[in-house]
Amino acid sequence: MTISTSKCPHCQKSGFEAVTEEPKGSNFKIIFIRCQLCKTVVGTLEYYNSGSLIHKLAKKLNINLDY
Ligand SMILES: [Zn+2]
Repeated sequence: MTISTSKCPHCQKSGFEAVTEEPKGSNFKIIFIRCQLCKTVVGTLEYYNSGSLIHKLAKKLNINLDY
């Protein structure tokens, strides 16, 4: 059973890779999640993980985010 396996919307195969690219005309990087086979992009992530940045910042400011 491979129900939970993610499939590419284009070629219906599974198997993805993450590549960091800088879009033309921008000064930031984006991580693209794409199909290993046909390179169809299925998702993007921020290069700078804002979640972990917030936690680092909160720690420096001695703020406990758990409350
Ligand atoms: Zn594909």
